Amino acid sequence: MAILTMKFGGGSLGTAKALVQVLAIIIDESKRWDHMLIVASALEGVTDMLLEAALYARVGDQRGYRRIAATLRTRHMALVDQLPFDTSDRNALKADIDQLLSDMLDQCQKVAKNLNDELLPSMSDAVVAVGERLSARIIAALLRQNDIRGVTVDGAELIVTDDAHGNANPILQRTAENVKDLLVPMLEREILPVVTGYIGATEAGETTTLGRGGTDFTASVLSALLEADALWIWTDVDGMMSADPREITNARVIPALDYNEAAELAYFGARILHAKMIAPLAKRAIPLRIKNIHRPHKTGTAISLSASGGRPVIKAVTSIQGLALTRPTSGSMAGITRLVGNTLFKTLGMRTEVMIASQSSSSSFLVLVIPTSIGIDGVDRLQQALRAKMAEYPDKMPWTIETISLVTAIGNNISSSPGLLATALAKLDDIPILGLAVGPSNCSVTVAVAQADSRAALQRIHELTVKSG
Ligand code: ASP
Ligand code: MG
Repeated sequence: MAILTMKFGGGSLGTAKALVQVLAIIIDESKRWDHMLIVASALEGVTDMLLEAALYARVGDQRGYRRIAATLRTRHMALVDQLPFDTSDRNALKADIDQLLSDMLDQCQKVAKNLNDELLPSMSDAVVAVGERLSARIIAALLRQNDIRGVTVDGAELIVTDDAHGNANPILQRTAENVKDLLVPMLEREILPVVTGYIGATEAGETTTLGRGGTDFTASVLSALLEADALWIWTDVDGMMSADPREITNARVIPALDYNEAAELAYFGARILHAKMIAPLAKRAIPLRIKNIHRPHKTGTAISLSASGGRPVIKAVTSIQGLALTRPTSGSMAGITRLVGNTLFKTLGMRTEVMIASQSSSSSFLVLVIPTSIGIDGVDRLQQALRAKMAEYPDKMPWTIETISLVTAIGNNISSSPGLLATALAKLDDIPILGLAVGPSNCSVTVAVAQADSRAALQRIHELTVKSG
């Protein structure tokens, strides 16, 4: 029995034209596979707006979140009006949308009235989750209109997570039970489940979210537990690129990557994939593909066990913001790592990710990497929180904090190839390297450079990337 999971990202769901394309893809693939599973993101930009609504709710700004709910309503209703529905189906779908947005307003109200700070993260997750609930309903209705038995399945009923709200981690064993009880019987009855990505729930039933871009993670966990034969991520670009095309104009699509390379690429800044989604697939060798809904015939990027036969190469270069902490004296780093650890967990719901730590006789230096799943403002939020915390202990914590850029070269066996490493470092030439780290997976080398040097470092390393494979 061949099973295919297809995940549709926000960028592939923004407009009626894109949705019609998505429908055509699903119809086409349903002829080729015994079973399929769809995992849907919110429409493009919707999660950003919901996070904003949750912030308004936190400060009790009722007009702020009501305005966002109204904008979301207009946008989803307009989309439904542009799609080919029968009148009765259209009306039913619109009633569903109204119900979901009214639930969202109730949640905002709860946040606004809440006096217990501890509950805020779970309440905000409940606000944000409505984005995927809206889009999944639209897709499922579109499928039913076309004689495919599409049924919406709520991620909160499937994915059991820990309580790291905003960046939660699925608990596979518990999730497996739900998959068996809920999803497998649907597949057996020839139903096409349309699962809301990004959302989970704790054992106690509180809504959680899996970090920005978390729909990928949902798709990966479900594919792993269903032992799917493949997972395809549909987006609006041709695949993973050798660099961010907004920074490097001649960036190319990478035809093939292995799991480690893809995970490093995602972790160090390629926003197209959620970094934590790779591990569950890699463990079961489930092939992953990234494809463009506008050019479905293109092969995109294929991610599998082995991609380039062990030859050391640089396939891609990324940049991501990081925080550098410097102290004009050497000595134990225990105090600062504890403080950073606590602040990271409190502010961003993640464990310590110290990336480079170095010490000389006269100073100490520490670099933190903030994964993109934290959201674009993660670096700022952490920086502010750390500054505030350190101000409480000025004599014990004489650290200065600044934002730096982490430029990472990614490719197989890169860090065990002295020749390739030397070439890459020589290429940086006069750009001062503030820190250097090689990844344990043997496929990444990261240099910390000043923000002003980031673009030049990217360009120079990109010149070393291979043109194929
Ligand atoms: N809608 C969520 C986000 O924007 C999850 C996703 O798109 O994967 O982060
Ligand atoms: Mg994404």
